[in-house]
Amino acid sequence: MEFLFKRHLQNAKPVPLLDRITNLKDAEPSLAVLTEFQKEALREMVSRAYNHNPFYREKMKRAGIKPEDIKDLEDLPKLPFTSKDELRGKPWVLLAANKNDISFFNVSTGTTGGEEIYIMNTWRDYYLHEFSPGHPKLFNLKPGDICINALPYEMSSAGLAFHKVFMEVQEATVVPVGKGGAYSTPEKIIRVMRDLQPNVIITTPSYAITLAEAADAMSLDLSSLPLKKMWLTGEGCSPAFRARVEKIWGVTANFHYGSLECGVLGIECDFHSGYHIPLGHVILEIVDPETGEVLAPGEIGEIVATCLLRFDAPLIRYRTQDLGYIDPDPCRCGLVFPRFFLRGRLVDQITIRSIKFSPFYLEEFLMRQPEIGNWYQFVLKPGNNDILRIRVELAQGVEPTPELADKLASKIEFAVGIPCEFEFVTKLIRPGVKTVRVVYEEA
Ligand SMILES: [Zn+2]
Repeated sequence: MEFLFKRHLQNAKPVPLLDRITNLKDAEPSLAVLTEFQKEALREMVSRAYNHNPFYREKMKRAGIKPEDIKDLEDLPKLPFTSKDELRGKPWVLLAANKNDISFFNVSTGTTGGEEIYIMNTWRDYYLHEFSPGHPKLFNLKPGDICINALPYEMSSAGLAFHKVFMEVQEATVVPVGKGGAYSTPEKIIRVMRDLQPNVIITTPSYAITLAEAADAMSLDLSSLPLKKMWLTGEGCSPAFRARVEKIWGVTANFHYGSLECGVLGIECDFHSGYHIPLGHVILEIVDPETGEVLAPGEIGEIVATCLLRFDAPLIRYRTQDLGYIDPDPCRCGLVFPRFFLRGRLVDQITIRSIKFSPFYLEEFLMRQPEIGNWYQFVLKPGNNDILRIRVELAQGVEPTPELADKLASKIEFAVGIPCEFEFVTKLIRPGVKTVRVVYEEA
């Protein structure tokens, strides 16, 4: 035991540039300091990738790029993209360290199909480098806070990653209740919350509703808990759905956006006006999904991430398949981190009358209707659709009448400009893993 610990400490010497910018974790660094850090980290990453990772060396050679060509942040677009498909089924493809130093793997959830994506971490990357993301104001937990972590702990990174940050960086108390694991049921989580009286909870938007339903069935009033903050992550939702979650739980809910592959990519402040980019952790670019050309601030495109703190398993210009745009204007909260807005996932866009829609855009109009409950599905046939079929549960006490279906259909049609049709059901199946909002059925 002691031997293992010593070995970790010996191997755990951070790279020199992190040594020099040690105050990233505690202080509120200026934009100039963060930009300088990004520049140096990028150079270091590219050099490591080229010298210690055959996959990246080959890619750079094919693109005619050498590490010395990447001197500044403006040189980033010279580097080739990394795609999900290049990682699928290849556990060691990103390795730029000694295999023996890999501490653990996380595995993709499989919701986007295909072979598994494996993301490995050395102890040093996970516990030293990633502890320097420099966003204490966005995750402002402190010792004494009790945090319910209702995210999955197995396979993917979500539960463990937040556990690490809350427990070891912010020294809060974390309760790993998980989400749908072997011992974890909504009822048990509600009992744990009743007993421990937590003041922070992190979960997914849909699981926040599942837990609220369990609390309701057990007659626990969630607003009686001393909650000061809820964090939502793992899946998106519309502002109107978030507003429902906040009302039910009686607490502000801020979103966190990240992924297995990249870790944290964006964190909301209490103003809920976009995700602040943790510049000490990642460089984000917005590119044209077709041409790969880097787009200007304000233009919508695919989000591309370069992780700055993965020295032993670099991830360079990774195409997330998520859509968004960067807003360069300062946020009202006063933080220096620029913001971006998400516009859904490339693969989740649905097509009606040849127009592409993000499901969350459509959800917004649904969730503004008080007659509609918290569970719904968009029912489509594959390909182009003439009509948007919406299967919903109604709010408690609302009668399912043909008149109501007509009224809701014309309201949504007026709002989004496409014909709609409503189907009322008593209860939709509750999600086991990730919530499915769009189902494809043959008409
Ligand atoms: Zn802000």
